[in-house]
Amino acid sequence: MSSFGPTVRAVRARAVIVPRQRPMRTAVGVIPTAPLVLIDVETSGGIPGSAYIFTYTEAALKPTLALVETIGAEIIGQSAAPLERLRAFDMRFRLLGTEGLVGMAIAGFDMALWDALGRAVGKSVAELLGAEAKPIRAYDSFGVIDPRAEEAELRRSLDRGFRGIKMKIGGGDVAADIEAVRALRAIVGPDIQVMVDYNQSLDAPEACARLARLRDFDLHWVEEPVRAEDLAGHARVRAEAGVKVQTGESWWFPADCARAIAAGASDFAMLDVMKIGGISGWLRAAALAEAANLPVSSHAFIEASAHAMAATPTAHWIEYLDNAGPILKAPLEVVDGTITPSGPGLGMTWDEKAVARYAA
Ligand SMILES: [Mg+2]
Repeated sequence: MSSFGPTVRAVRARAVIVPRQRPMRTAVGVIPTAPLVLIDVETSGGIPGSAYIFTYTEAALKPTLALVETIGAEIIGQSAAPLERLRAFDMRFRLLGTEGLVGMAIAGFDMALWDALGRAVGKSVAELLGAEAKPIRAYDSFGVIDPRAEEAELRRSLDRGFRGIKMKIGGGDVAADIEAVRALRAIVGPDIQVMVDYNQSLDAPEACARLARLRDFDLHWVEEPVRAEDLAGHARVRAEAGVKVQTGESWWFPADCARAIAAGASDFAMLDVMKIGGISGWLRAAALAEAANLPVSSHAFIEASAHAMAATPTAHWIEYLDNAGPILKAPLEVVDGTITPSGPGLGMTWDEKAVARYAA
């Protein structure tokens, strides 16, 4: 039992499969739904804390749920302080390692505990971190699309005030890449930032060859052109292709961020609040990015990311990719191309009817 502040009194985990408004097609496969594990902790004093983690594939939903339940039972009676839990988890899983499902569960608890800390004092997590809960610029995130066929949807994005549009490419040959980028640029015009995401589908020589032919389209960034762990490959693309490289959504914990910075792998940093170690891990990675002068963007998890971005010195763009909106009572709204962190805590309240409807 902790003698310092609140403790964890109960943990509940549930699995849901949330439908997507737009099925997410990538160069390496389709993500038709958003499989989520919802985590609810109750701390002494009756303060709740909630968060969700995203398993990418439904195949990982059950094992992730089981892991969260098992680890959750272990932290009952322990301090509800996120940094202490992170330290203890690091020791608990030192020999197994924390990449993968374990790391996802750890981050889920971290976010849920930060949420509880905010709720306990009636403040948003952004404010708790000493930041302001103010609007943050977002870009709209599309999968693999034919921009001409999706023109109406793209125009809706512009009407919502988005000043950046990202789409995924790389499912076909370089001619298809060029065709898609040319079509998107023609629709959005010269003043909107255009980003493309290869989802790790190329090797470095192929990426350099393709990107040399995309130089004229004023791309804001090219995301994960090669495998995420191929840091040398990312660095080579940066040096040879003449485009700005974005990577980071696949970094596990701040240590991966440090390794990528040391390798010169990216012009930016894209943090995934789940893989980077929750709000606590994010803050440490954001400090590394600041020290390396890397602008930081977020990956999915719009609710928690909005708070983390508010506290990020080199905040760049929030990715607008709403995985949990259909199960929230008050999904985050896009206002003039921005989203604003809401509170108290992380500002998420489950719509229990929707949770029941999408229960896995
Ligand atoms: Mg990506």
